[in-house]
Order: sequence, then structure tokens, then C-alpha cells
Amino acid sequence: MIRAYKFLLRPTVRQEQALREMLRDHCSLYNGALQERRDAWRHTSKTTVRYGDQSAQLSEIRAFDPERQGRWSFSSQQTTLRRLDKAFQAFFRRVKAGQAPGYPRFKGAGHFDTVTFPRDGDGCRWDSTPHNPHTRVRLQGVGHVRVHQHRPVRGRVKTVSVKREGHRWYVVLSCAEALTEDLPATGAVVGIDMGVAHFLTTSNGEHVANPRFLQAAAEELAEAQRHLATFPKRTKHRTKAHRAAARKVAKIHAKIRRQRLDHAHKTALALVRDHDVIAHERLNTAGMTRSPRPKPDPEREGIFLPNQRAAKAGLNRSILDAGWGVFLAILANKAESAGRTVVAVDPRNTSRTCPSCGHVAKENRVTQATFQCTACGMTANADHVGATNVLNRAGLALCVAA
Ligand SMILES: [Zn+2]
Repeated sequence: MIRAYKFLLRPTVRQEQALREMLRDHCSLYNGALQERRDAWRHTSKTTVRYGDQSAQLSEIRAFDPERQGRWSFSSQQTTLRRLDKAFQAFFRRVKAGQAPGYPRFKGAGHFDTVTFPRDGDGCRWDSTPHNPHTRVRLQGVGHVRVHQHRPVRGRVKTVSVKREGHRWYVVLSCAEALTEDLPATGAVVGIDMGVAHFLTTSNGEHVANPRFLQAAAEELAEAQRHLATFPKRTKHRTKAHRAAARKVAKIHAKIRRQRLDHAHKTALALVRDHDVIAHERLNTAGMTRSPRPKPDPEREGIFLPNQRAAKAGLNRSILDAGWGVFLAILANKAESAGRTVVAVDPRNTSRTCPSCGHVAKENRVTQATFQCTACGMTANADHVGATNVLNRAGLALCVAA
């Protein structure tokens, strides 16, 4: 099954210029080839120029015009010639059928909007910077263009097209749907509890630690943000130092995203490999982060008072929250392509319910780390209890579903 995806491109000014030139040169290739066919048909006793003839000339054309035709992908140019060939085949088919079709027409520069690369990796590369949080597509002669990838791409990318629509640019992928490669069944099910002390805890009692980089990054980020806040907020002309401060903040954010992504992939992979069913708490993204707001300086607008312990705690918290969202998205994705089941359960009271006797009380949670049931006295690690409750709830949910 072939599936198509269309994503908005975010080219830089220079890349956009190159994209326009790419369309322009493909357009003139198309029109040149059309001209040749016309001339041959009119002047040389009705001979027909075929795709093969024109494709064979491509190398020469490229060598002759390195500044323009030579810049672009050979295969994409072949595709453009094939497009013309298709127009001619349709024309001849209709002539044969006794209709009076219009002769294939020249395309105005404004009406030639698509360049197609017939194979991923040949003059183009989908997801050319896989380690970067931003998806990019590399196009020969243009560079790595940022893609607004609003949904995941499944299957193997076969063809890549670049399309202009008004002032916007899009990349269109056609993908061969990969059959999910189911992993062998393990017979194991697991519940996970996502927490602050540990990134997550499983119902088997295993902890996955919070990656150490987060703490360091949070401190670095708080510092950089404080520095950025010393510059005027609304200004038309940023100074060099102001721009540098803003860049620094953006750079730390990018680093956090990259490392978080890496950590999430590794953690999700391990869970999917070892379990058939993975249960987690449904994430309440709206209510999750109630970060303490930094206190604004009453004297100066847009300036925040320094050394806000609460602000830093809020930052830590929000970094963790964002991490769980990313992690769960990756987990769902990996599970689907491996034929595993992921169940999201109601998170209410998972940390207060005794897995042994079912008693629900706030007092069961003695400290952040310790759970002790006030009814039956069962004592355990609080995160472990949470994970066990998640698993139990998922079992119930699955039974109801079945
Ligand atoms: Zn109990």
C-alpha cells in the first residue's frame, strides 16, 4: 500500500531562492524538450523523439550548462522528461482514438510547480538530520531544508517531491507501507509509573533514572534565561550581546530536546522489546505543569528578580513533563510497529491506592518515596506501588475490552 504525506517546508531565504531556481530550470528543461519534439515532428518528416532519446542527451545538457542544469539531480530531471513523455503518450492515445486533443503545451514559469525525486537517497534525502529534533530534507543544489513534520511517517519513503503552492513550499512523500515487524511474544506485561525521583519505575520494581543531563541543563538554562531577561524585552534593534544571549537560550533548548529524544528512544525500545503489553498513566498535559511563575521586578518591566528558587524548580518540573510527552509518543510509535499493545489508564489515585487491600487514602503515601498502607500495613517503594496500580488497572481495562 502506498501512502502519501505532505509537509510544509520552512526554507531559509537562500534555500527558497534555490528552490525557485530549481523549478525555473526544470521548467526550461521541460519546455526545451517539448520544443525539440515539436521541431522534429514539424520539420523532419514527422519523426518522433522519444523519452529515451531525450534522456540520453541529459548528460550533455548538464555538462554544457553546469551553472543551471548541471546543478540539479539527474534523476529528478529524468522524471521531468518522463512527465513530458506521459503528456505525449496521452496526446497520441487520444489522436489514435479519433479525438482532437490539444498538442502538449509549454509551461509558463509560474505554472511549473513540482519537481520529483524518484528515489529517496538519489539527489534527495528524507530526514537528512535524524539526530536533530527538527526534521530536514536534503535536496541537491538546495541543502537541508527544515520540514514542519506534523505527523509521523510510516513505511519506507519511495519518492520525494517538492511542490510550490502560492508562497508556500511543501514536500510530498510517497511511502510503501511497511508490514509491521512483530517482535516475538514475550508473555510479559508491565505497568510504568512516571515520576520525579525516577524517570519511570516499572511494576517489576525497576527504576529508570532521570538522565543526569537534565539537572545540569536546567541550571544552565535558568542562568541563560536570567541573562536574557536583563535585556529590554520589546526592541526593534537588538544589540549583539542581546542576540548572543537569545541564541544561547535557544541552543540549550535544542540540546535538551536532542538528549531527551535520545533517552526516550532508548527507554522505549527496552520496554517494547521485553513486554507484550505496556500500561502507563494517561498524561494530563494541561494540568501537569503548574510551574511557579518567576516574580517580575516591579521597577523595571520585563525584568525578573534573580535567584528564584521556585522558578528553577518549575523549570525542572517542566523539563520533566515535556520529557514524558515525548517519551509516550515514541513508545506508542515503537509499540505499533512491533505489534505491541500500549494501554493508557486513568491516573487518579494510583499513588494512594494499596495494591494489596485496595484501601485508598492520602495518608498511605508517607513520603515522596515511601508507601505504607494505613489499613493493612503493607510497605513498599511509592513509585513501585504506582506502577503496580497502573498495571492492575490496565488488566481491568483489557478484561472489559475483551
Ligand atoms: Zn492495604
